[in-house]
Amino acid sequence: GLWDVVEPATGLQLASAASGDATDIDRAVQAARAAAAGWASTTVSERRDLLQSLADAVEERLEAFAVAESADTGKPVHLATTVDIPRAVANLRWFADAAVEFTSREICFTTKAAKSEVQLRPAGVVGAISPWNLPLYLLTWKIAPALAMGCPVVAKPSEETPTTATMLAHCAMDVGLPAGVLNIVHGLGAEAGAALVDHPDVPAITFTGGTATGARVNSACAGAFKKVALEMGGKNPVIIFADADIDAAIETAATAAFANQGQICLCGERLFIEDSIYERVLKGLVERARRIKLGDPACADTRFGSLVSATHRDKVEAAVQQAVLDGARVHCGGGRPADLPQRVRDGAFFEPTVLDGLGPDATFNQQEVFGPVVCAMPFSSEAEVIEAANGTPYGLCAAVCTGDPARAARVGGAIDAGTVWINCWLVRDFRVPFGGMKHSGLGREGGDAALRFCTESVTICTANTNTVDATGAVPGAADQ
Ligand code: NAD
Repeated sequence: GLWDVVEPATGLQLASAASGDATDIDRAVQAARAAAAGWASTTVSERRDLLQSLADAVEERLEAFAVAESADTGKPVHLATTVDIPRAVANLRWFADAAVEFTSREICFTTKAAKSEVQLRPAGVVGAISPWNLPLYLLTWKIAPALAMGCPVVAKPSEETPTTATMLAHCAMDVGLPAGVLNIVHGLGAEAGAALVDHPDVPAITFTGGTATGARVNSACAGAFKKVALEMGGKNPVIIFADADIDAAIETAATAAFANQGQICLCGERLFIEDSIYERVLKGLVERARRIKLGDPACADTRFGSLVSATHRDKVEAAVQQAVLDGARVHCGGGRPADLPQRVRDGAFFEPTVLDGLGPDATFNQQEVFGPVVCAMPFSSEAEVIEAANGTPYGLCAAVCTGDPARAARVGGAIDAGTVWINCWLVRDFRVPFGGMKHSGLGREGGDAALRFCTESVTICTANTNTVDATGAVPGAADQ
């Protein structure tokens, strides 16, 4: 079947996408299996060169990719042009080079008795399932390490935002990636996504999406003993101490709350502000939120577009309305913007919203909303804010603003999250492991972790024949 791909900023149909099912997934997996041995036998430098060509091809079409990403998601074309697509290109380039270095490290241990060499073999067909918020960026984040390490891929992008994945597949054909090495199957999560996770010939699944979906993926993988990497939701705290550079901290809090219309897993929906600076920071944040240039995402000067769909906008709106019923005060935003340009007047927009008046245990402060919303809360001590920051089921990231390095080290070390940013937010280094604790993630991606995920390590242990005695016993073997 087909389904309608809707431009969320207008509510109009953009395209039709094929709704792949279990049969399509099986065909893709069989194509990947047929290509696996050939792909694994290419050298890592050959694979690097192909991935660099793929990156070149995306870069040459950067504008077309950015326009498509903006139309599918509602994000400003400026953001897609400066962040999403360049980062997708960088993902392909970085993992291509990193795999060469990673595979050149010799892993060998020698004793009197034997020499143990560790081989890193491609893990086989990798299944990649990605979300709609950073469509090409997160798709390439998953497929680049797999391809670079010699694994064919079957990818199931989000059904909400299929366009740039299709464009990537065309680029892959243009640059001569062998048939079957990269397979992209569009389809619904419960159908195509579940079929990929359940497929017996896919030994490794890398998933990014919501926590409830991740739990389902994890159970399916457990029964089949698949490798699984899960990147899921967050309810990330931004913590501002009175000793911070206050203006810079307000900027950090605003960016963390509203970047990509608040639809990044790393966004800060909880803002903890030390008592003595509470009013000043709140006022500054509200002023900053009101200055954001909201509008038609296709316009070059727009900095804040529509949410990904009307359905998602309604969910965000309902969460804010519930927060108000629970006692929240709305300092700015809280609803749909008036006076939208004609082209986008029926779009899925929601204003940048600042709330306060709720405690850390309120529903709003416990559940990921995944929209341009932030709730401010005062705190009076380090111990209190650490406990509150850790007091959700999530543990993806945190941002701490302070001018005191000793405090930064103490608080950073006490927060249960995969990444803690000090006086910044969303600064990414490809080399560091990326992922979450608790219900935010399982395993790590990024850097060596992603490359290792795509391998099986096999130890070849060779006896040192000079030390084998007549009985065949290897001296020293018992010591191992
Ligand atoms: P989602 O869980 O609804 O969907 C993610 C992907 O999983 C989609 O491709 C979907 O089709 C697929 N899917 C759905 N049901 C499935 C099933 N039963 N089996 C297999 N696959 C299935 O998430 P979303 O709404 O697309 O994305 C938003 C969520 O993603 C948020 O919770 C956000 O925090 C999270 N996210 C996390 C990270 C991270 O790195 N931790 C990054 C971006 C987004």
